[in-house]
Amino acid sequence: MPSIAENLQRIRERIADACARAGRDPASVTLVAVSKFHPAESVREALVAGQASFGENRVQEAAAKFPPLRAGHPALRLHIIGALQTNKARDAVRIADVIESLDRPKLAAALAEAMAKEGRRPQLLVQVNIGREPQKAGIDPDAVADFVAECREAHGLPVAGLMCIPPAEDDPAPHFDRMAALAARLGLHTLSMGMSGDFEAAIAAGATHVRVGTAIFGERHP
Ligand SMILES: *Cc1c(COP(=O)(O)O)cnc(C)c1O
Repeated sequence: MPSIAENLQRIRERIADACARAGRDPASVTLVAVSKFHPAESVREALVAGQASFGENRVQEAAAKFPPLRAGHPALRLHIIGALQTNKARDAVRIADVIESLDRPKLAAALAEAMAKEGRRPQLLVQVNIGREPQKAGIDPDAVADFVAECREAHGLPVAGLMCIPPAEDDPAPHFDRMAALAARLGLHTLSMGMSGDFEAAIAAGATHVRVGTAIFGERHP
């Protein structure tokens, strides 16, 4: 089995190739290594291989794994990418550099309060339910403009961009294109989209962050 370092190298090459095909600078795409359900030792291997940004979808798991790793790795950036309960907002603000799952007004209020208390302001991405799936989290594409305005004006939140997970059964490319158009229309520069199976299509559409788990760390065993 290839090592985490070898997998990272391969993903970096694929990102560079996708950027070349799209006429983009590879430095414009940040690889977020999604380490959920993998042990701190795997994260450490990735850090040693030069990987700086990581994604976790549960605050409790991230809080157990990451703070001890920061000491020797000041460039480490932790992204919270999963559904966030309001009662976990303060812990998320304490440990995260980026929170990608801002998806409702109550959470915006909780994050604003947590930021005031913690004196820390992680970047925020609004999660968009780009496929309008009833079971999926995220703001309806038609409501994103109003929601971003509410986050900024009513709560003073640092909204930097958008994030999505397209419907599993669809061709993701049209969804990625609609996300890019939406972000451009709102003047938002950060666009987190693309996972192990579709990050090249996301880069073609303009992703600035791709979230890759399985292709780096292997299968998860929750
Ligand atoms: C788990 C997860 C990923 C990574 O998915 P892979 O298919 O393993 O690359 C990306 N984004 C989110 C929001 C996730 O929960």
